[in-house]
Amino acid sequence: MMAALLLRRDKKSTAAHLKSDLNRTDNSSGVRQLQELLDSVLNPEKPPADTEALDWCKCLIAGEEGFEEFCKTVRSYDNATLCGLVWTANFVAYRCRTCGISPCMSLCAECFNNGDHTGHDFNMFRSQAGGACDCGDSNVMRETGFCRRHRLRTGENVPSVPRDLLLMSEMVLPRFIICIIQYLRDGYTEPDTSAERDLQKVLQQLEPQITFLEELTKMGGAMRTVLTKILTNQQTFKDLSMGQEENVFAKKNYENYLSALKNSGLVSVEEKAQTGAAEPTQGSETGEDQDGQSIGQRKRVKLSSSTKDPSIMDSLKHKCFLEELLFWTIKYEFPQKMVTFLLNMLPDQDYKITFTKTFVQHYAFIMKTLMKSQESDTMSNRIVHISVQLFSNEDLARHVTEECQLLDIMVTVLLYMMESCLIKSELQDEENSRHVVVNCSEALLKNNTYWPLVSDFINILSHQSVAKKFLEDHSLLMLWMSFVSFFQGMNLNKRELSEHVEFESQTYYAAFAAELEACAQPMWGLLTHCKVKETQEYTKTVVRYCLETLQIWFDAIGFVDELAPNQVTFHLPLHRYYAMFLSKAVKCQGLDLESLLPDQEMLMRIMVHPLQIQASLSEIHSNMWVRNGLQIKGQAMTYVQSHFCNSMIDPDIFLLQVCASRLDPDYFISSVFERFKVVDLLTMASVHQNTALDGEQERPMLEGALTFLVILSSLRIHLGMADDEILRAEMVSQLCMNDRTHSSLLDLIPENPNPKSGIVPGSCSFEEMLSAVADFKAPVFELGGSMQQGMYTPKAEVWEKEFDPIMVILRTVYRRDVQSAMDRYSAFLKQSGMHTTGNPWPPYKERTPLHPCYKGLDRLLHCKTLHIVIFTLLYKIWLDHSNMSEHVLCMVLYLIELGLDNQVEEDKGDEVRPSHCHDSWFPGTNLLSNLHHVINYVRVRVPETAPEVKREREPPASTSAEASNFGQAQVFSLVAERRRKFQEIINRSSTEASQAVRPKSSSTRWVPPGTPPQLVTEILEIHESMLSLLIKLHQKLSAKQNSLSATWLEDMDANPNRHAHGDGITAIERILTKAATRSHQSKRSIQEICGKVFPPVAPKKNSPTAKKTMDKEERRQRARERQQKLLAEFASRQKSFMETAMDVESPDTEAAMDLGASEVKESEVLYDCVICGQSGPSTEDRPTGLVVLLQASSVLGHRCKSDEAKKLPTTDEERIYPADTCGAAHDVRLALMQSFFKDSSCLQSVSIGWDGGVYVQTCGHTLHIDCHKSYMESLRNDQVMQGFSVDKGEFTCPLCRQFANSVLPCRPGRSTEVVSWHMPSNKKTSVLVKEVEDLQEQLGFFPVSTTTESNLSKEMELVIKDIKNTTQRKYMDYGKNPGSPDNDFLFMYSVARTNLELELVHRGGNLCSGGASGAAKRSCLNQLFHVLAMHMRLYSIDSAYNPWTRLTQVAPSRDKMNSRVCLDDERPEVPMLFRDCPSLLIIFVLTMPQPLRKEHFICLVRMLYNLQYTQALAALSAKFSPEERQAWSTSGTLKKFSLFFYMINCPFNTICALLLCFLSQLSSSVWSPQSIEYSLQQFCLPYLRLSCLLQHHLYGDNLSGCPEEEEFSGLAGCLGLLDPAPQPSNPMYSASCLDWTVSAFDLMSQWCSEVTGLADTQTLLVQDLQWASPHLLHLPDNYNTIFQYYHKKACTACKKVPKDPALCLVCGTFVCLKGLCCKQHGICECVWHSQHCGAATGIFLLINASVIIIIRGHRFCLWGSVYLDAHGEEDRDLRRGKPLFLCVERYRVLEQQWVSHTFDHINKRWGPHYNGL
Ligand SMILES: [Zn+2]
Ligand SMILES: [Zn+2]
Ligand SMILES: [Zn+2]
Ligand SMILES: [Zn+2]
Ligand SMILES: [Zn+2]
Ligand SMILES: [Zn+2]
Ligand SMILES: [Zn+2]
Ligand SMILES: [Zn+2]
Repeated sequence: MMAALLLRRDKKSTAAHLKSDLNRTDNSSGVRQLQELLDSVLNPEKPPADTEALDWCKCLIAGEEGFEEFCKTVRSYDNATLCGLVWTANFVAYRCRTCGISPCMSLCAECFNNGDHTGHDFNMFRSQAGGACDCGDSNVMRETGFCRRHRLRTGENVPSVPRDLLLMSEMVLPRFIICIIQYLRDGYTEPDTSAERDLQKVLQQLEPQITFLEELTKMGGAMRTVLTKILTNQQTFKDLSMGQEENVFAKKNYENYLSALKNSGLVSVEEKAQTGAAEPTQGSETGEDQDGQSIGQRKRVKLSSSTKDPSIMDSLKHKCFLEELLFWTIKYEFPQKMVTFLLNMLPDQDYKITFTKTFVQHYAFIMKTLMKSQESDTMSNRIVHISVQLFSNEDLARHVTEECQLLDIMVTVLLYMMESCLIKSELQDEENSRHVVVNCSEALLKNNTYWPLVSDFINILSHQSVAKKFLEDHSLLMLWMSFVSFFQGMNLNKRELSEHVEFESQTYYAAFAAELEACAQPMWGLLTHCKVKETQEYTKTVVRYCLETLQIWFDAIGFVDELAPNQVTFHLPLHRYYAMFLSKAVKCQGLDLESLLPDQEMLMRIMVHPLQIQASLSEIHSNMWVRNGLQIKGQAMTYVQSHFCNSMIDPDIFLLQVCASRLDPDYFISSVFERFKVVDLLTMASVHQNTALDGEQERPMLEGALTFLVILSSLRIHLGMADDEILRAEMVSQLCMNDRTHSSLLDLIPENPNPKSGIVPGSCSFEEMLSAVADFKAPVFELGGSMQQGMYTPKAEVWEKEFDPIMVILRTVYRRDVQSAMDRYSAFLKQSGMHTTGNPWPPYKERTPLHPCYKGLDRLLHCKTLHIVIFTLLYKIWLDHSNMSEHVLCMVLYLIELGLDNQVEEDKGDEVRPSHCHDSWFPGTNLLSNLHHVINYVRVRVPETAPEVKREREPPASTSAEASNFGQAQVFSLVAERRRKFQEIINRSSTEASQAVRPKSSSTRWVPPGTPPQLVTEILEIHESMLSLLIKLHQKLSAKQNSLSATWLEDMDANPNRHAHGDGITAIERILTKAATRSHQSKRSIQEICGKVFPPVAPKKNSPTAKKTMDKEERRQRARERQQKLLAEFASRQKSFMETAMDVESPDTEAAMDLGASEVKESEVLYDCVICGQSGPSTEDRPTGLVVLLQASSVLGHRCKSDEAKKLPTTDEERIYPADTCGAAHDVRLALMQSFFKDSSCLQSVSIGWDGGVYVQTCGHTLHIDCHKSYMESLRNDQVMQGFSVDKGEFTCPLCRQFANSVLPCRPGRSTEVVSWHMPSNKKTSVLVKEVEDLQEQLGFFPVSTTTESNLSKEMELVIKDIKNTTQRKYMDYGKNPGSPDNDFLFMYSVARTNLELELVHRGGNLCSGGASGAAKRSCLNQLFHVLAMHMRLYSIDSAYNPWTRLTQVAPSRDKMNSRVCLDDERPEVPMLFRDCPSLLIIFVLTMPQPLRKEHFICLVRMLYNLQYTQALAALSAKFSPEERQAWSTSGTLKKFSLFFYMINCPFNTICALLLCFLSQLSSSVWSPQSIEYSLQQFCLPYLRLSCLLQHHLYGDNLSGCPEEEEFSGLAGCLGLLDPAPQPSNPMYSASCLDWTVSAFDLMSQWCSEVTGLADTQTLLVQDLQWASPHLLHLPDNYNTIFQYYHKKACTACKKVPKDPALCLVCGTFVCLKGLCCKQHGICECVWHSQHCGAATGIFLLINASVIIIIRGHRFCLWGSVYLDAHGEEDRDLRRGKPLFLCVERYRVLEQQWVSHTFDHINKRWGPHYNGL
């Protein structure tokens, strides 16, 4: 009742009233009143959209002062010392590795900029999942990095909060929160699968309420404290949670909540009951059970029995608001506002702890919700957004680990999650396998859904205290190992033997990602804490559990000793855990390897799967897996790729090395060859059978096997190399493959064991190492080519001493990279003169000594089996047997050399080896002594057809003397050997394992295949030793008999270094030398062999087929070289075209094809057609044309007065004013003239085309126009288009491939005509003036008949049409009547003007450099003028208005002239003084009959100069002050001409006065004669330049250069205005160029009278004709300046912050790239702007990407970036976030391409934009 009363009152006063009530000592009535009010206001039955309740709360909390004011007051009590700013995805934040303690640390831009991070390793990044600012938190970052505000510890100076300020908040907020909770409860409906949409709706309705809560948290520490107290108070929760009294609605809500809670546990209530019942029967602790039980069940049972604390699996129970709020936050899949609300309070330390505990408590529930979520990506990001804040803090992580079993929960939850997608493993024994693996095609793996949980786990393991807990807890380790085993053997590949797979499964990516993230990353995390002796125990434990789990795995898959054929899995995480902990134990913890190894039998098993992967790699590269599709290659490549190699191939190789060092070497070697399936190949016979491989696969597989052995015995990554050494080797190998940019190198260097980021103190610095091994190549711009980035290239001494082909092979993802490294190596050797002939071989490199633990590895090189293989291969290579290659020889030699360099003390028969198999081949195992051991006879099994059979059968039978030897003839069978060894070891090691000896799968496969009857045993007579074979090979390679003389060795010793680099010959010499120095016997043997004179070897004869293989490689190499040369030639040809066509700078090619210009020969001009190849004249019937590109351009219009480029604004204060550009100035002038004068006259008095004019350029190539048409037809039919549209007439020049879109017909011409134009004339000017007038009269008689229209004239009209279509209508219609002939006329002559003006710009704005700079550029202006002139004939100038008359004649009387003006009912004509002289010149030239004689042209120029000069005087006088004007006009000289006294008020007086002064050379006034002369010249210069250029193009006159200060006189001389030989010593006066045919004063007074009394005379007279060269905007040096201002700037059109902001670099306009917001008429803003700003050319800087895109018409291309980092690299999309600086050179290139209109030619990758940019 009371409440009802209150409700009716004004909210504000109610609040004030209640507050005072509550402040009384007895506040019970106040409390009651408030409660009643809230009861009725906060009614959850009202729809949440009704914000009345919210308004009430705000008022109550704020009291009388109002909410805004209240906020301010509360904020003033903020005592927070942490920033804690929470942000969401896409926010731009910073990370400083120098200041960070945790790698997850991040700072808001404000804190970053207010802190001092100069010289730190920081970067900017775009937040993916959201985050929070860590400034002020010394747990996460060093205090030195705090910003100024948070370093000050503001907390201490803040006054304490007055009690009553927050009193109301404390009372109201609990009710408000429970109200929200009730809405949330109500919104939830069971079952939750269908609720997806409803949840979103509920959230939307609650938006204002949650936003209010979020606002409260931003009010600083004081309010946060109130909130956190309410949220964590258990009593409040108890009181309010159930709902009050008999409120039915609240009751229902509460039940809803309880039922939601029930299903929150890992195990549902029913399941739990089941498990409990099943417990007793679950006796065996491994959980292995009867067949038939489904896997899921079996595993789950096992899991629940192995979890320590079953409470982890239970349903949730809540004790405070926070818990329930988090619960609903999860249930509603982390609504953004909710997350921000909860995170905003984290700076409150107590809250942070409670919140973390609550989060951990809900962890299993989070996982369950995540797995069900439809939008797991978003949810993942939100989860990590929270968890990163909590778990990055070590104290907190440790705290919850200890108190809330965080580790148990995480491992259990991960395990539980993976169990949902297990399948039976098909590895090995498909039928009976009991192993289960994850199914990689399940969404959980494919979508990486597990990512947030794994990432949390990795995060907490990075804390030493937490990791220790984990490593000490054996049951956790066990649990973890069973988790890892879910990935062991996943994604099994089965080799397809018959059909190509129908569907290439892409599951492999999920598999690799899962192993890396879920297995390897936690492993690396744990390993970082096992680095010292003190942690030995941890390692031992892990190793023990690894072995146990491996044993379980072997048993489960039913593996004994033979692999099931044709399968491979790349995933062996258990092996790799074992390997890496072993490596760490030996390397860092000083543990003895022996103590960590299992028995020999286990070792033999362990080696099988990693070895199988190595063999499979070779098979995949030998195309044996082609039927499995491309994906299998993808796996092979991923396996060795830089992000995976540390966690995959490296541990595998290391494990194999460990096995090799402990197992019998003969066994190991034979296993390798067997696994690579090349056993059959290893026979001395010339012919053999291979049951496992096709013929073409034998060679690559043999190469693979040998390469693998070389890698195995020489790689030292885990066998003794220090971390620095490893980093160096990695870096060198990547740099040798290719020059690299800094970032790509950073990416290519594997992360472990050296974290590259430098987070770990003391780890070797990447940068230091880089500068030690590499030279920096600064970015250069290749003309006409692509932009280069800054690159690092190996130093010379690195090539010389450190290039390691073995490391390169290990790290190559693409096979071509090995070749690339070798090519670069050869190039280096050639360049440095170290090796100049032939192809060098991979250099041999000495290795880091083995760690003593792995000494056993060397025995691999000293075993008879390997020696027999080497001997056999040397023999076969010498005899050119099939399938041998240079690569095989190279690897064999490498193995020999490794053996020589790594000697082992021979165990002198200490072990009892009753029947050593190969004793008959070699006496011992030492390579050095076996080298010179001579093998006499070898027994081989060959088919009867083999050459040996016939040849060898007779001799042994006859020579009975040798018969005894045959008994000793050598037999060799690798397979039999391996089997025997295996059994021997098994028998020795395990007496009881009798059942294991005969495995059930015991190879029906590897027994020598059913020995076909046609095989016969033969005995070969050999009589060779390895040494003798080497010497014979030396002869063979050098193609010389006795290539090594007997004394050769003595000469050799002198310089051992010269052997380091070279080819096969060098390698053999090096080996022989080493053998000789190390053993006397070898030395003697070598000398003996060399001393013998060998009969000429003619091995090729024996087997002509075999020769092929040996030479194949060589021929392939040669073919490749040939091809490369061809390509290079082609490229350079292309390039030279580009250069001659476009390089404005290049002075060389002085126009051999410069068609319009230069001396023309007597005969007709001939053109070559680049299509048909014929050459001939251009005729009316069959015209020839120039290939041209027409494009609209606004470059001229963007010129400014100032030579300095405008600055790009980077603050709100700065601005760009567009009014002072050339385009704008001309528009204003024309509009002004149009407001006074007759429109048609205006349109002849100016030029347009400053904006949107058409520029014509050509590559200079010509073609028949009919040939062009058929060419276009063929292009149209060509399906594969290269980014241009034929429909728009686009094509590329058939010869030089330059982009073009039209053909400009060439004038049929005979040079005689040209000559006649040139004739010098001595006619008087007055005569010429008359002649010109007559010629203009003729205009009408010009043949414009349509009947005789020829092909040529048709084509001319077509190109005119093309020109018009090139630009937009609005750039053509300046007149008042759109489309009128006047408009057209103006547009046509302006095209000529535009092209002349642009050429001037390209020449640097003046003609001082003469012909040299510009002439190389092919010009089509002459042809263009011709075409324009032909078109202009269609128009005629009314002779009454002919400007020529007014230019050269004094009108009969002033009255008449005036009367004409008045008679005209329209406006008057434009006065002569306002007319543009260059425009008039072009009009005259184009409208007079062609060809125009030069004398007439000169006459035009002269007459117009008079006008131009008068205009100059007028403009000058207009600038004078009235006093000055007065002074000049009344000066003595003027008085003589009393005629003009009456015009005292007109500037004309002054003009005349000035003119007279100059004629008589007088001086006085402020304006000195010099300064006046200077400004007159400046005023006239543009006219002279244009005239001169026109003359150059029409008559081919050369432009002669001159110093800049003499340009005026130079040009005047060139145009014949001055005496050809002016005296250079005398000052030159512009007035001396005047040439009047009538009285100068009459004419001038006539001109002046036209302007007398007109308004705005001043403005029109004073015009600026000089424009600076066009510039793009001036950009700041540091990209950050641009980025910070523009990335959050709102668009002026749509007022929103664009998702993809872009900037026009021409005018500075800010646009929404791709934004629908600013789309108009289906055109996005960027494209739209390009049309208006650049006449369809746009240059935009994409703010968020730092790259520039070019829009040209309907196409666009990515140009690249003008901002580079410290390493000269671009950072597209700002992924690395390193500081970027302007590359001035690149920007200049961009500007130059813009000005020269060469975007189309230089940039190659164009695509259509469909108006969508
Ligand atoms: Zn700060
Ligand atoms: Zn901050
Ligand atoms: Zn820093
Ligand atoms: Zn042709
Ligand atoms: Zn061309
Ligand atoms: Zn623009
Ligand atoms: Zn916009
Ligand atoms: Zn917009």
